[in-house]
Amino acid sequence: MYSFEEDRILRWLRSENVNEVLLQVPDGIKPYIGGLVNFLVENDISVFVSGSHTWGGCDIAFNEAISIGIRHIVHIGHHGPVRVANFRGIKVLFIPGYYEIDTEKVSVLLIDFLRGKYNSIGLFTTIQHYRDFKKIVNELEKQKIRVYTGKSPDPFLPRGVIIGCDPRASDYLEKDVDVIVVIAGGIFHALSIGLWRSEKKVFSLDPYILKIKDVTPNIRKILSLRLHNIINAIDKEKFIIVISTKPGQFFFSQAKKIEKMLKKHGKKVLKIITEEVRRETFINMRVNDYGYINSACPRLSIDDPEIFPGPVVNIGEVKYILGIAKIEEYSLRDCLILNI
Ligand code: SF4
Repeated sequence: MYSFEEDRILRWLRSENVNEVLLQVPDGIKPYIGGLVNFLVENDISVFVSGSHTWGGCDIAFNEAISIGIRHIVHIGHHGPVRVANFRGIKVLFIPGYYEIDTEKVSVLLIDFLRGKYNSIGLFTTIQHYRDFKKIVNELEKQKIRVYTGKSPDPFLPRGVIIGCDPRASDYLEKDVDVIVVIAGGIFHALSIGLWRSEKKVFSLDPYILKIKDVTPNIRKILSLRLHNIINAIDKEKFIIVISTKPGQFFFSQAKKIEKMLKKHGKKVLKIITEEVRRETFINMRVNDYGYINSACPRLSIDDPEIFPGPVVNIGEVKYILGIAKIEEYSLRDCLILNI
């Protein structure tokens, strides 16, 4: 199913002259890593598997590695580091975990969908399907469909690849397009572009179940949810600023800036720092009647707002609750913007 590039991992460890490694894998892929672990063990590598979840390239298990004295992490399932500036002396090999899809079926599905309706398409995918991306583009082009894509300013993100908090590749389409399609399981990644380019029709193509879905209704729902949260937060006198220690979600300087702004506007502030942002943390502290400023992964407030027991806004939305910007000017992009 997944390609774990075992030989490449072993070559890397040998070239680093080490015989121990910490494997970090998203929960959804963990059930499939038995073969990789056996392979490494048979080659005299001492393997530690991180039992924690990893949500993205923002979430690298430096603390776990340091606590067991390991200097090498193999991080599976993501393209590379996301906003991680300090590797704390640890080397990380990113293995995307490519998943082989039936490119012929995916291409036929897409061609049928586009036929007669759309002449040009903006096409994006996730790292899991990046290896098959070019083949699909070729098939579409053979049918005279104009296919365009773009590249995020993040140097680690390959052309055509997006992540949940970085849809900026869609700003760099070579030409304006009739429609944007994201090839990825579920709708999480298509929503990322849908929020960023809400003026466009955005569809997700799920290559696992071979279904295309218009994400516009989901975007509309998110818009009303965001506005609902902002309006409810405006009335709050007390705010919790949530700070995550995950290396690529640690927006501490932004959190401090927000604290100052809130205090200047006469608001009371409580700061909660945690690695994993969990509802139980807030419930357990019995912090009632607070609004929440989420400075961790922006998708938490968008996809799982119930984590926060009160109205929650992201960094780019703080200006609305403080009256610095008018709610009528709200743009869905604000929920993904990571600075104020
Ligand atoms: S911050 Fe959130 S959306 Fe961005 S890479 Fe990390 S987990 Fe994914």
